[in-house]
Amino acid sequence: MAAVSAKTPTTSLPLDPQNPQFSKLNSSKSLNFSHIFQKSHLFSVKKTHQNPLLSSSSSTSTPTTDPNSHLIQLCSNNQLEQAIVFLKSIKELHGTIGEETFVALARICEFKRATNEGCEVFSCILNCMTQLSLRLGNALLSMFVRLGNLSDAWYVFGKMEERDVFSWNVLIGGYAKNGYFDEALDLYQRMLWAGIRPDVYTFPCVLRTCGGLPDWRMGREIHAHVIRFSYESEIDVVNALITMYVKCGDVGNARVLFDGMSKRDRISWNAMISGYFENGEFLEGLMLFSSMREFGLFPDLMTMTSMISACEALGDAILGRALHGYVSRMDFYSDVSVHNSLIQLYSAIGNWEEAEKIFDRIQWKDVVSWTAMISGYESNGYPEKAIKTYKMMVLEGVMPDEITIASVLSACTSLGLLEMGVKLQQLAERRGLIAYVIVSNTLIDLYSKCNCIDKALEIFRRIPDKNVISWTSIILGLRINNRSLEALIFFREMTRHQDPNSVTLASVLSACSRISALMCGKEIHAYVLRNGMEFHGFLPNALLDFYVRCGRMTPALNLFNMQKEDVTAWNILLTGYAQRGQGALAMELFDGMITSSVKPDEITFISLLRACSRSGLVAEGLDYLNSMESKYFIVPNLKHYACVVDLLGRAGLVDDAYDFIVSLPVKPDSAIWGALLNACRIHRQVELGDLAAKHILETDERGVGYYVLLCNFYSDNGRWDEVVRLRKIMIEKGLTIDPGCSWIEVKGNVHAFLSGDNLHPQSKEINAVVEGFYEKMKAAHRSESERYRVNEVEDSKAEIFCGHSERLAIAFGLINTAPGTPIWVTKNLYMCKSCHDTIKFISEVVRREISIRDTEHFHNFKDGRCTCGDENYLRET
Ligand SMILES: [Zn+2]
Ligand SMILES: [Zn+2]
Repeated sequence: MAAVSAKTPTTSLPLDPQNPQFSKLNSSKSLNFSHIFQKSHLFSVKKTHQNPLLSSSSSTSTPTTDPNSHLIQLCSNNQLEQAIVFLKSIKELHGTIGEETFVALARICEFKRATNEGCEVFSCILNCMTQLSLRLGNALLSMFVRLGNLSDAWYVFGKMEERDVFSWNVLIGGYAKNGYFDEALDLYQRMLWAGIRPDVYTFPCVLRTCGGLPDWRMGREIHAHVIRFSYESEIDVVNALITMYVKCGDVGNARVLFDGMSKRDRISWNAMISGYFENGEFLEGLMLFSSMREFGLFPDLMTMTSMISACEALGDAILGRALHGYVSRMDFYSDVSVHNSLIQLYSAIGNWEEAEKIFDRIQWKDVVSWTAMISGYESNGYPEKAIKTYKMMVLEGVMPDEITIASVLSACTSLGLLEMGVKLQQLAERRGLIAYVIVSNTLIDLYSKCNCIDKALEIFRRIPDKNVISWTSIILGLRINNRSLEALIFFREMTRHQDPNSVTLASVLSACSRISALMCGKEIHAYVLRNGMEFHGFLPNALLDFYVRCGRMTPALNLFNMQKEDVTAWNILLTGYAQRGQGALAMELFDGMITSSVKPDEITFISLLRACSRSGLVAEGLDYLNSMESKYFIVPNLKHYACVVDLLGRAGLVDDAYDFIVSLPVKPDSAIWGALLNACRIHRQVELGDLAAKHILETDERGVGYYVLLCNFYSDNGRWDEVVRLRKIMIEKGLTIDPGCSWIEVKGNVHAFLSGDNLHPQSKEINAVVEGFYEKMKAAHRSESERYRVNEVEDSKAEIFCGHSERLAIAFGLINTAPGTPIWVTKNLYMCKSCHDTIKFISEVVRREISIRDTEHFHNFKDGRCTCGDENYLRET
């Protein structure tokens, strides 16, 4: 579900301030090194590089002169290790080593990103001096920020006897770069209070934090400061302002600034163009791109990658081709990141040949190239190719990154490759990639869909910063593993931390309808309306489906009337009628669909055939099957055939059903044989049933449902040896039937009742109510054939396949709701005949309407009768 795509990590704008002391250290290595030593009035780096022999010989000789000049010499020769060894050999540092020497040492540590050496130099400094001068303090600050050690940087900052704007800039920039936006803004405020005037390098750092948060209000305030300190004509500052506005989603103000610039550089153009793209205003961005060229400015790598990504988002193949042609004419075609974005572009528009061609042409494929190809295959429904490409990548010795792992995991999920998924998890743990939330989220998805929900929960609990996808994945995972009540608990927990999106809400609605949590679903409906999300993605249909499944047809029809152009909405309503055995209504709806010019699809006919089958409309059903191809150009598939077998079989035309199967143009699957077996069970056709059973056991896919069906068939025919054999196979294969469970919602809370469970706080009262009904039934002579059945096996069969949990839920409902109000119960298994009879009796005694939804039917009990067509039901179960 999580759409994973590899992004070339060069799309954000370089926002480093052009501070000669600070930021150039980040941008250009050769420059900053010579710069360090220019300041120290020593030899330039180039010179030492030209004389490597001379410099190495000088370092090995024992120092006879001043240790300071020897150390500075070592630094200028880039010999940090020797310098540290020599520094540690000096017994008395205090007064011996000068400030300039420490500055040189700090700078070489910064340049070489030498974390340990940097700390050693710092501890030597702390041994010699209690206060730090501005010059040494700034050098140390710069070093620690560069090494990512913000706590020591903060310590240095506190130890400085005096600070200038550079000191503040370095620290603010350090916090901003590491994502501590609030701290960076706080420091900026303190800088103003300390009376330091911000300079041209301060604003880009501060504005980056406003864009990163994003905090538009704060950004506006900083903009006002820019004007107050009159930097509004500084190109770097205005570029940073533009970026801040687009990151805060305010493209309008960004454009005003852009248009007001007297001079613009390429950064200004890129900021504005990619700003449009980031905010989904592709057309504006493209127009600006063409005027950039009119202004005589040539796009650079940044411009081109963001243009290609925009084409990808737009799915514009023609523009993509044009850009491809343009980049191949320009010199940056040799850059791998352009190739990578082109792969992403072509896979996004589904042009495989082109994406593969570009991929094959890349000489030095990096991890992004491989990942672009893998995730392209994965997101376009070619999981096998994704996995094959990943294996090639491993053979080439390229190490996967978090996006690679996530894409391959998604491919494993599609193919059900649990074992490979487990191996990928181990790899992710070893390489520290598990820390990426995208990896954990795809793992949750994998484990949920492979029925390992407990492993999914374990992964979920370990995520420190759960995002909306993490929550949605676990909620959906619980739902598909039949733990819907927990899904709702997780959802409540989620809303305390995070706003749900439309996918989350659709998953929760699905959980609600599973257990008929009406209040919870209604709350979500209200939330959807409050937030104007009623037309978001799958939400309209998820809501419709929820009301239909909960049997609330009035709100369902209201929703349906608003989305009558959508074939899915019609299908949902048709399925609802089918489930309630309302064949005539289903046919009427289908006619309405045709007159509304909505084109039926495969699912329409599945629902329609099911509705006919439940209502015994054999001739009508066969007519629909025959018209599918001739009138609606839909080729019937195995699912339609299974419905027809069910249609014929249920009506007692078991032999016709068998003839139909034999005449099929395709090989029948286990669902088709299952439909026949069920018909044979209902109509006691032992021989044919045996044949169907044989076919089911021959096929590979043996879901629990088929075993239940087989057990039912054999036990109905008194063949207990077969039942025992099947039970044994089920245990060996680890196939378990979910324990019987019923749910009832009272005052907005859903209560679950497991068969034979006495854990409910009111279980004493509940059992007393149930026993009371048994007594009354006995008195009314209704009980002998139901409750006190002699056949023990029959009893245990009903126990396994029904669980009778609905009796507890109904008793609970009777105790806790006002007299006369209807009772709604949902259960996860079929309802047995004994339960059906008992509930009919209860509805008569208490004069209440009782609705029960089991896996197949909707039963509406009233005054001792049920709407499911009593007579049929009794015979069937
Ligand atoms: Zn029962
Ligand atoms: Zn019924």
